[in-house]
Amino acid sequence: MRRLGYLVVDRIVEHLEALPDLPPIRAGDAGALRAALGGPPPEQPSDPERALELLFEQVLPFGQLGDHPRFFARIGSPSNYVGVLADAAASGFNVFTGSWTGGAGAATVELVVVDWLRELCGLPGESEGVLVSGGSTGTITALAAARRARLGGRPEPGAVVYASDQAHASNARALDVLGFAPEQLRRLPADTAFRLAPAAVHEAMMVDVAAGRRPFCVVATAGTTSSGAVDPLAELAELCAEHGLWLHVDGAYGAPAVLCPAGRAALRGLERADSLVLDPHKWLFQPYELGCVLVREPGLLERTFALTGDYLRDVTGGEVNFRDRSLQLTRGGRALKLWLSIRVFGLAAFRDAVARGIALAEHAEVLLSARPGWEVVAPAQLGIVCFRRAGDDEEQSRIADAMGRDGFAAPSTTVLGGRAVLRLCTINPRTTFADVERTIERMEIV
Ligand code: PLP
Repeated sequence: MRRLGYLVVDRIVEHLEALPDLPPIRAGDAGALRAALGGPPPEQPSDPERALELLFEQVLPFGQLGDHPRFFARIGSPSNYVGVLADAAASGFNVFTGSWTGGAGAATVELVVVDWLRELCGLPGESEGVLVSGGSTGTITALAAARRARLGGRPEPGAVVYASDQAHASNARALDVLGFAPEQLRRLPADTAFRLAPAAVHEAMMVDVAAGRRPFCVVATAGTTSSGAVDPLAELAELCAEHGLWLHVDGAYGAPAVLCPAGRAALRGLERADSLVLDPHKWLFQPYELGCVLVREPGLLERTFALTGDYLRDVTGGEVNFRDRSLQLTRGGRALKLWLSIRVFGLAAFRDAVARGIALAEHAEVLLSARPGWEVVAPAQLGIVCFRRAGDDEEQSRIADAMGRDGFAAPSTTVLGGRAVLRLCTINPRTTFADVERTIERMEIV
């Protein structure tokens, strides 16, 4: 066991050391992969070292390296090694956090971590939370709580939710799963800064009220996936308070920016959320899968998700039973990685790393603005900058594809204001300013 374990650790460390020299994305050939990895399940045992070799040579190299210093596509996941070790320990001890009896130590760590995140985001002390696999499940969890609080737990047909057309698609999917019809979500056109305008929400609400419908919830985004834009949270909170709507904030990407002064200023009003989702596996540098849901009203998660059963009668009571706060009964030790890495590195390192991500995108914006043939379409916001090369939409896709084949850096594309744009998401603390400079130079010649 030790020999194999050390082998795995060595391979992980070698991989992390080699990262800057690897292509950030390596495509796989479906036929070749299936041929190397498939076949019927072997009836007989085989040499574990050879099986591990197959894993390291034929499985793990194919895909995106979200923690690569020049992976700028979509949202990266610049994880950290302490978090990796905590995940290994959680797996090795097969930590269970569904009940207090099942894992009092790890459940306490989860309470601690959730409370750290709550405090950072400025929600009141009695607010509660739970860790989940990521933003998508977090949104289902949060909106189920909202539905419980405001609609008695049912997707009342007249209830209406408001979001901008820049909101992440997981919000619409969550509402769908929760039984809301597509027309119960108003996807309002964002303003010229790609934000949800409170006046547009107000106007849509008035139309709905006049038609006998019931405005129920605003989904505000704190850091959109496309451009990093932050909806005007304080103003939307005001509107929600005035009209009795639930304010859900999707901070899956951007909420961790509260750690640094520039981010905190951009996220003013975050603390007024009724529910909030953020993803430590994005901008808090954790390995997948780690999302967090925070809910202002104490006890609401339990009112939404409490699970009972005769077979659970021996494991009730105690400080907390996390099975009662989300859809998972059997759940592992997700909190350990964030807790351990904050303990080891200190929060100041996280603050610096987040500020650096913001500064890298600003650096890219300055460079692009000064270069003929480039247009900045959305200025650097929370670590994302969107821009266009002279030419049509196909030209932007061609550059992204060519960069993929070139293998030096991975930008991605999105659509803003009806036009395709290139974007860089620069949240990896291992990214250097030279990495950004060389990436921009490369995009010009591919
Ligand atoms: N919300 C936003 C703003 C996101 O950027 C993302 C993912 O990028 C999600 C939600 C979904 O999160 P996950 O991929 O962890 O399910």
